[in-house]
Amino acid sequence: MSLIDDLLELNLVERQLRGLQSRVHSAEAYHRAQTRQMTELEQRSEELQTRRKQRQVSIHGHETDAKSIDERLEKLRNDLNTASTTRQYSTVLEEMNTLKSSRSSVDDLILTEMSEIETIDQDLSELEESMKERTTVLESAATELEERKAEIADRVASLQAEREVKAAVLPESTVEIFERCADDFDGDAMAPIEEIDKKRREYCCGSCNLNLPFNVVVQLLGATDSITQCENCLRILYVTPEMKAETVSK
Ligand SMILES: [Zn+2]
Repeated sequence: MSLIDDLLELNLVERQLRGLQSRVHSAEAYHRAQTRQMTELEQRSEELQTRRKQRQVSIHGHETDAKSIDERLEKLRNDLNTASTTRQYSTVLEEMNTLKSSRSSVDDLILTEMSEIETIDQDLSELEESMKERTTVLESAATELEERKAEIADRVASLQAEREVKAAVLPESTVEIFERCADDFDGDAMAPIEEIDKKRREYCCGSCNLNLPFNVVVQLLGATDSITQCENCLRILYVTPEMKAETVSK
């Protein structure tokens, strides 16, 4: 068998393998997208939890302030009862009024923080709901991915073994070129030469339609131990059996 025949066989296996793996690729992409969305939800949840904690710390601070104001007020109430002069009485009363106004500001602050926490809790519970839904979707995506992988596992293993056998008979440098083309063109590494006009000796690359000089065609018809890549699309060119038969019978 010629080098090109060996390459065509390798290409056949390569395409089957990639065809099988593409079935897993869509499941992988779906699973990846679901995982990313889940991560985003988790991050958002963490952010909200942090903000909630900050609010609680702030409330705690205000409560401490409120407590010390209350203690001072309690003391002032006693002072008021024991005030011996009008002047003393009014001084104490004045401080009490100032403190009461501060106390009410602190209460307002606490209420604001508490309503913020309420909003956060609402967001958190909505988030939790979305995460629950997302978990179900993610789990089924993971199951589907595993199933797809399992479905093709045996066939992939046997094709991989077959590919190794097919590649082993080829020179290493040829396999390298082939693999590069296969990666670039999703397994479509080879391009047949197509006849445009036999009389005019016009031929082109069957993949990208680049016109090929006749001497390239002659070279390919004769050569059995070298490869020629299309100058434009870089695929490995080959002569189809039909074209070869026609040329030989001429
Ligand atoms: Zn081409």
